Amino acid sequence: MANTQDKFKQVISHAKEYGYIFGSSEIYDGLSAVYDYGQNGVELKNNIKDYWWKSMTQLHQNIVGLDAAILMHPKTWKASGHVDAFNDPLIDNKDSKKRYRADVLIEDYVEKLEQKAQKEISKAKKRFGDKFDEEQFVSTHPRVVKYRKQSKEILERLAKSLTEEKLADVKALIEELDIACPASGSRNWTDVKQFNLMFGTKLGASAESASDLYLRPETAQGIFVNFANVQKTGRMKIPFGIAQIGKAFRNEIVARQFIFRQREFEQMEMQFFVKPGEELKWFDYWKAQRQKWHDSLGLGKENYRFHDHEKLAHYANAATDIEFDFPFGFKELEGIHSRTDFDLKAHEELSGKKLQFYDHEEGESYTPYVIETSIGLDRMFLAVFSAALQDEELEDGSSRTVLKLPSILAPVKAAVLPLLKRDGLPEIAEKIVEDLKWDFNIAYDEKDAVGRRYRRQDAAGTPFCITVDHDTKDDNTVTIRHRDTMEQKRVKIENLKQILTEELSYKKWLSA
Ligand code: ATP
Repeated sequence: MANTQDKFKQVISHAKEYGYIFGSSEIYDGLSAVYDYGQNGVELKNNIKDYWWKSMTQLHQNIVGLDAAILMHPKTWKASGHVDAFNDPLIDNKDSKKRYRADVLIEDYVEKLEQKAQKEISKAKKRFGDKFDEEQFVSTHPRVVKYRKQSKEILERLAKSLTEEKLADVKALIEELDIACPASGSRNWTDVKQFNLMFGTKLGASAESASDLYLRPETAQGIFVNFANVQKTGRMKIPFGIAQIGKAFRNEIVARQFIFRQREFEQMEMQFFVKPGEELKWFDYWKAQRQKWHDSLGLGKENYRFHDHEKLAHYANAATDIEFDFPFGFKELEGIHSRTDFDLKAHEELSGKKLQFYDHEEGESYTPYVIETSIGLDRMFLAVFSAALQDEELEDGSSRTVLKLPSILAPVKAAVLPLLKRDGLPEIAEKIVEDLKWDFNIAYDEKDAVGRRYRRQDAAGTPFCITVDHDTKDDNTVTIRHRDTMEQKRVKIENLKQILTEELSYKKWLSA
């Protein structure tokens, strides 16, 4: 546990130290759960966006893009169900005045039970060594059986109370479990209330004429309301998709875990419109496609798992989460949902406008079904960044911190380093930068000994270092050093562009 917490702290401090992520408005002590992306962060973020965008739109003839506004007609959120049902149950502690998500307090309690069970298991593992049969142990050891049974009962009761909107029972459960406020230790709780996660705002100058709006809590609705516009003007035939990257806002009650859960974040969503009856085939297709996309980045298959939903949202007929092993454990990174015709039908009803597709071959109109793939850009950033950050012991006994970002996503692709700050070496290095900068993001660094510069670039995530030394003057060659293997090769200056082009080709990465 301490280990994973240490790793998480290291991720946060490294992200700040190397100009990836800063707290928002830090000079005023920050704004909770809002973050700014620094000079390297913005490049990494843009590269992730590009990698997703190209795989969706450029590699699929039948998927086009869209950039809808953040502000939308308020009826949008009535139709989508967000006004009535986009809620979390909250509870306040009267002594500490701290606010919590009631379901999270209960889930944290269950997590503690699980930790107790795990403690028993690891104690027994040590005691029995090779002879330890974990399956038998967890099914017979009285305390472990008790903890697991209790957890199951608590979670079932919570799910039932929430589904049936019995908030008094959620409070009763908190009281029965004797859950205390983590800040004050007090058990003096208010009633549980539903809290809508949408941020409200006003459109218009004068208070009387202004109308109430929301900042969008998801980008998907911008796609649904533009379904007919895109279908007609793009002469799109079913099946086809619309992809969008954009900001979304949620007034999360408890926003911890760095950029994993923010109040302002970005989503990369694609809605794929299909013929009713064919949705489950396409659901499987997109599950496989999205897994392939993740695999192509090489973050490690063991860091991913699918979690199929047993309890489906009212509009869905299949749903799965792609979970990633973040520094705080496996959590949702991306959702893939079969949303039926719920959204298009709801907008059709409330707007009175037809949102259907006329199928010329069949000679009939129908409301398409929808498969959605929705990934949080910031969560993908955190996945890539935390998997990449590694401490390595080297053969000579020293150690290094290295950020092994996939080179296709790395902010700076290569750093050009003159070995010394004299003898005409900086001039040659600058000329190399001048030549490569049109195609790649290149850095120039001449400060400190070259070994220290290598370490600095390793920690910043730069995949290649190009070093100019005295031999360069004689034979026009430089060394190119690979961040991950630290291997150095001597190559001709005139071949550098070709080498980088091959290493950083979208084709090479996306078809991997
Ligand atoms: P969670 O259960 O973690 O709150 P969710 O199921 O509400 O997530 P969706 O509504 O399915 O999330 O949104 C799609 C994606 O948007 C998620 O898979 C996640 O990557 C991202 N996302 C959702 N909420 C946030 C947030 N507060 N901060 C950052 N990313 C988010």
